[in-house]
Amino acid sequence: MNIEKIRKDFPILHQEVNGKPLIYFDNAATSQKPQSVIDALTHYYNTDNANIHRGIHTLAERSTTAFENTRKAVAEFLNSNEVEEIIFTKGTTEGINLVAATYGRKFIGEGDEIIISGLEHHSNIVPWQILCEEKGSVLKVIPVNDKGELIMEEYDKLLSDKTKLVSVNYISNALGTINPVKEIIDKAHGVGAKVLIDAAQAAPHATLDVQGLDCDFMAFSAHKVYGPTGVGALYGKRALLEAMPPYQGGGEMIKDVSFSGTTYNDIPYKFEAGTPNIGEVIALKAALDYVSELGLENIAAYEHELLEYATELLSEVEGFQAIGTADNKASVISFLIDGVHPFDLGQILDAKGIAVRTGHHCAQPLMERFEIEGTVRASFSVYNTKEEIKTFVEALKSAIKMFK
Ligand code: PLP
Repeated sequence: MNIEKIRKDFPILHQEVNGKPLIYFDNAATSQKPQSVIDALTHYYNTDNANIHRGIHTLAERSTTAFENTRKAVAEFLNSNEVEEIIFTKGTTEGINLVAATYGRKFIGEGDEIIISGLEHHSNIVPWQILCEEKGSVLKVIPVNDKGELIMEEYDKLLSDKTKLVSVNYISNALGTINPVKEIIDKAHGVGAKVLIDAAQAAPHATLDVQGLDCDFMAFSAHKVYGPTGVGALYGKRALLEAMPPYQGGGEMIKDVSFSGTTYNDIPYKFEAGTPNIGEVIALKAALDYVSELGLENIAAYEHELLEYATELLSEVEGFQAIGTADNKASVISFLIDGVHPFDLGQILDAKGIAVRTGHHCAQPLMERFEIEGTVRASFSVYNTKEEIKTFVEALKSAIKMFK
């Protein structure tokens, strides 16, 4: 991995923020974009912009082909068997809401149980709460141990023939914990439940394989994997997608509309009402191409090196307390410093050009589990360096001095 070369691919990194070279450690919130993704977006708007699927003119054909090529690229990225199993969404949040509103509304009823985990992002909690409230279903939560890992014995106890759906993240955004998703899926299938994997954080760090995992649904967001904002994809097994009612009504999702009744389009279009984020979907392919050129395994190995280096340096910082020390962890460090509010640290680091995330990371129940309001979170990507980590730790030490 030639990190200096990789860094050159990301124009945003080469700037000063508050008079200091930018150090971007907020990658779990969103990743930066390589020039090839930015170029794909501008190319689309400069040369191909047209609405897709309906037009027979050349621009419409070009944009339709590019749009559908991304679907093929996503199918490959997730190792899905069929391109029709890939639905474009606004992102992970919409993917989860889509499953809750369609599969959930049709197949989950009163007294049925849905299992999520204590590590979930709000977007994998609230849609299920809404569904449970509407249907009289029951939400169960796999608890989390002091290291920030799921307590699998408790998961075993929660599973029963009442369990209809299990929805968990692959990697926790707040702590970086990598969950044993294969085991979770196999056990859920053992009681006849379906499984949705929230792969928002996994997409940039782990090789995804929906066939190998045998998950029923998987959702991710383009913007966390070097792609544009506003798009993502949902994978669903064909038989499930075909059995599910549509999500939204409108153009594209129909075969025939009349006042005496409407017939719906085949999958995936049945779930893609309205004009999508065409340019952004097209640019997602450039992002996936970029990732596959570098190799996800190489990316993950390098990020792990960064994680180990940062963990070692931070352990020597006075008052440092890691929140989340799972054995299997992605390149996310959530921490507190004794006697200093995370928000204050975030502000001081920003003044030094260092972008970290502070707060509850959209995981308030998890923060409650640790009896804290929030943490400082540094999350590393393939374009980050050990030198940046060193600068960050020095900046942290000098910030702490200001409060002592
Ligand atoms: N799930 C996890 C684990 C996340 O980290 C995020 C975003 O931070 C989401 C879901 C929601 O993703 P989006 O806001 O792109 O829909």
